Amino acid sequence: MTAQLSLFNTLTRRVEPVVPLAPPRVTLYTCGPTVWNYAHIGNFRTFLFEDLLRRWLEASGYDVFQIMNLTDVDDRTIRAAREAGKKLTDHTAPFTQAFFEDRDYLRIKPAHVYTPATAYMPQMIALVSRLLERGVAYKGEDGSVYFALAKFPTYGRLSRLDTREIKVGARVASDEYAKGDPSDFALWKKADAEDESVGAAWDAPFGRGRPGWHLECSAMSLAEIAKCCNVQTLDIHCGGIDLIFPHHENEIAQSEGATGQTFSRHWVHGEFLNVRGTKMSKRHGNFLTARDLREQGVDAAAVRLLFFQTHYRQPVDFTDEALEAAKEGVRRLGEFHARLSGNGKRETGNDGLAELSRKLEDDVAAALNDDLNAPRAVAAVFDFVRAANRELDKPVPPPGTARALAAFERVTGILDVLPTARAADPALARWVEERIAARAQARKSKDFKAADAIRAELAAKGIEIEDTPQGTKWRLR
Ligand SMILES: [Zn+2]
Repeated sequence: MTAQLSLFNTLTRRVEPVVPLAPPRVTLYTCGPTVWNYAHIGNFRTFLFEDLLRRWLEASGYDVFQIMNLTDVDDRTIRAAREAGKKLTDHTAPFTQAFFEDRDYLRIKPAHVYTPATAYMPQMIALVSRLLERGVAYKGEDGSVYFALAKFPTYGRLSRLDTREIKVGARVASDEYAKGDPSDFALWKKADAEDESVGAAWDAPFGRGRPGWHLECSAMSLAEIAKCCNVQTLDIHCGGIDLIFPHHENEIAQSEGATGQTFSRHWVHGEFLNVRGTKMSKRHGNFLTARDLREQGVDAAAVRLLFFQTHYRQPVDFTDEALEAAKEGVRRLGEFHARLSGNGKRETGNDGLAELSRKLEDDVAAALNDDLNAPRAVAAVFDFVRAANRELDKPVPPPGTARALAAFERVTGILDVLPTARAADPALARWVEERIAARAQARKSKDFKAADAIRAELAAKGIEIEDTPQGTKWRLR
């Protein structure tokens, strides 16, 4: 295991060492998408910082168990289903599928378990019953069940809420509300005609209804960590900063109100993404989806690099210029990778390249251990590329390229920012081989003009060639 990972803990507002309950296991809960529509690229910024966290924990020797929920019943999904004239599950299923496709496109590692809220009704009903038994919840005269903030004195700790603002007995039924409106919130909402019409109502001992959004994450995370690890406390809980209040505040109240145990040891929140100055968002103003990018043929590596160039606790502007710069960065990484790979597997020696490789891995580890400082890790990668290229430019190429290649691949594997390999179609490949053979023939007969013309002809089709002792190699740019 490498040196200690520290992360900013929203609960204490300090960067603190991550101390799992039972190392090397780390239980990681990441609030997932609401599958009422396609996920916005801003949602994916959060999922990408969580992906990097997961990969870094694993690279550091931890055994991560990641849970991600799929919110397939809440105010928004019900409204969207009704507007589409569909049953709830008919409306959400394609968006769940789309989310998985987008996740794969962006090279996000799948969570170990995905929990659709509608599949956890018994656990949600049990959690509400428990909160009622413990006296921290009550049934309102409107037939819904509410959490009683007055019975949970530590409410507001995560969001640093001034609890004097809490009006005892004031109630809020909607899933989303502002920080200025802390009130008893709905755990279970009595079914109304709209819920019934889309099939979003379940029988429960305390009345037919449906879960509040906040309840879902508490019930599902507690159910899954009990099943996997027989615990009631998460090691790390992640989400976007917009979830701190009321969502995560309410998750803490519900979970700790039921178990009497700390709900999560570490709370980690990612900043927003702003979509500005981009012409690519064609659907809804600045509502840019991952599939918009995929349809534009944007390499996922460029999206990852763009996001990782900013610290997860800093806002990012997504612009055409930033994306172009990231594409160029990815191209340089790919070129360097090809150069290093094509350099032959020489013996590792104690030379400049080996020293640079050691520094690369040390710098990246130090950066990621320091509150997942991805921009510093990315900078270390580009410093390495520059310095290693200088070594490779020397008249006598250095030994140690195998070591350098391994270090470079390990680091870029964690960030996952190397360009997607483009496979050439067989007809193109045949044509390229034929042109390369013609060029070799021209060179043999010292017709360098013809040889150069063929190289230019290939370049015009995006084919790069390189003459090596083993013959001429080519690749798609
Ligand atoms: Zn959640």
